[in-house]
Amino acid sequence: MARMKILLIYPYSLYDRSLEEDIKPVPIGVYYIGAVLKENHYDVEILNWYKIHKTPQKISEVLLEKKPDIIGFSILNANRWGGLEIAQIAKEMNPDVKIVFGGVAPTFLWKHFLKHFPQIDFVVIGEGEYAFLHLVKSIEQGNYRDIKNIKGIAFRKKGKFVRTKPAEAIKDLDELPIPAKYFEYQHVAFSRGCPWKCAFCGSPKFWGHKIRFHSPENFVRHLELLYNKGITFFYVSDDNFTINKDKVIEICKRILEKGLRIVWVAISRVSYIDEDILYWMRKAGCTQISYGIESGSEKIRDLLNKNVKTDQAKNAFALTHRYGIIARAYFIYGSPEETWETIQETIDLIRQIKPLICVLYILEIYPGTRLYSDFQKRFNATDDIWLKRIEGICYFETDQNLSQEAVFQFGGKIRTELYENMNHFVESINLVNKKELYELHSDFCSRLGMTFSHGDYSKIDAIKDKDNIAEKLFEQSLSYYPNQRAYLGLGMIKQDRMEFEGAVKILSEGVELFPDSKELNLCLGITYMNLRDYNTALSYLLRLERSKEAKYYIEKCYQALSV
Ligand code: SF4
Repeated sequence: MARMKILLIYPYSLYDRSLEEDIKPVPIGVYYIGAVLKENHYDVEILNWYKIHKTPQKISEVLLEKKPDIIGFSILNANRWGGLEIAQIAKEMNPDVKIVFGGVAPTFLWKHFLKHFPQIDFVVIGEGEYAFLHLVKSIEQGNYRDIKNIKGIAFRKKGKFVRTKPAEAIKDLDELPIPAKYFEYQHVAFSRGCPWKCAFCGSPKFWGHKIRFHSPENFVRHLELLYNKGITFFYVSDDNFTINKDKVIEICKRILEKGLRIVWVAISRVSYIDEDILYWMRKAGCTQISYGIESGSEKIRDLLNKNVKTDQAKNAFALTHRYGIIARAYFIYGSPEETWETIQETIDLIRQIKPLICVLYILEIYPGTRLYSDFQKRFNATDDIWLKRIEGICYFETDQNLSQEAVFQFGGKIRTELYENMNHFVESINLVNKKELYELHSDFCSRLGMTFSHGDYSKIDAIKDKDNIAEKLFEQSLSYYPNQRAYLGLGMIKQDRMEFEGAVKILSEGVELFPDSKELNLCLGITYMNLRDYNTALSYLLRLERSKEAKYYIEKCYQALSV
């Protein structure tokens, strides 16, 4: 008998984002489910349909071609309408296809989904690998009588909604197959669970308060498998990656021993950081750690149950920067009891911790959080609120002391202050004086320099002195160690300022050290063109004959020489 065809779909969100990266990655859990099914010899495919609504005819085309027997949807609050719409199309095309919803939103709203949306047959609640596998097996065998014995699912039966016993959390995460055996992706996780109870976050209720880890060996093997497929940049998506210092240091040492030349970013809490761990993380390729701070007001942090102290935040940010790792701060505004005074406290804290990147969110309420239970109590609200086409509930809409206008102004003020002080934040970085980190310091300075000269910050008018900040960073980079990016950045700055002689000098030094660098040769060639020295320009551009961009400039040189 041919095995069932299973599609795992990650659907599009209700609203488009300015940064596609925010919605693009398929959650890592989907890959684990896919891998478990593959190990059990099912024909399974993962479809990242985060933007299929831009070409909606493709939905039915692909479904027609793939002919799935079962479709599993990975559903967050933001993409639940996308999932419902695709499921509806799939059911209309084939009423026998079985539709399964899993993920954070269905876990907390399972009854809501089953009650209002007949296109859904089953919901997987919580950690989904084994529940989904058992469900697929039962469907395959046509054994619907035993479905009630599968732990961790919900379904309809004779007009009623049945939820089975909760599935036990997987004790040994290493028993799961490493999904990189079958798939390619950049988001990886070392642990599941979070012991904290922030009022706005559903993660602990989904994964549990007890934290479970893969072994460092398994995690590095995971990275290695992806590295061998050509992936060199990773997002470590654990809620608190550094919660266990010894394990993290072991991971870093193993990455170094295996010679994996990778770059990665992680998330943690300011209370789980010290010099040792930062030293090893930096050596093993970490370039950024994100920390949730949420507010400068202790009162609001307490209301959100954040449990972060101002001193811890200051210390963690300064230390992280000392080791050449960008400390990125998450802040929330529009929280309970937010006023201009508390916003000023947030601005004051930002000035003290000096983050190089800040991510600002308006507080939203999601199922599975304490804020959501409070909201339901305050308004006697049911889950029917999610019948509205919204992604989340803005907290300010539920609090008469806050208006949308005021909250938007809060955000604007924080952003302006942040950008106006960014130059001081960069100036305050004091990299640790350890010779073995010089090459990495050089890399850090040049990356940061590019952010100001040609990256995200180059487009933000409110950031003062961008060129000079970048120039200093590139020079600092080269004072530590020769760095291709720094030579290029400095060369481009000088070129923009029409300081062509200076650009030639710095770019020539760069080309001497990095003769194969396409960017340096191209930039140097263009600089000579600006000096009308077309023959010398050609000597660099012709090294890149295969590049389309270089071809354009080569032709320009020949044209100039022929007149
Ligand atoms: S915000 Fe982070 S620390 Fe707080 S509960 Fe969620 S995952 Fe845990």
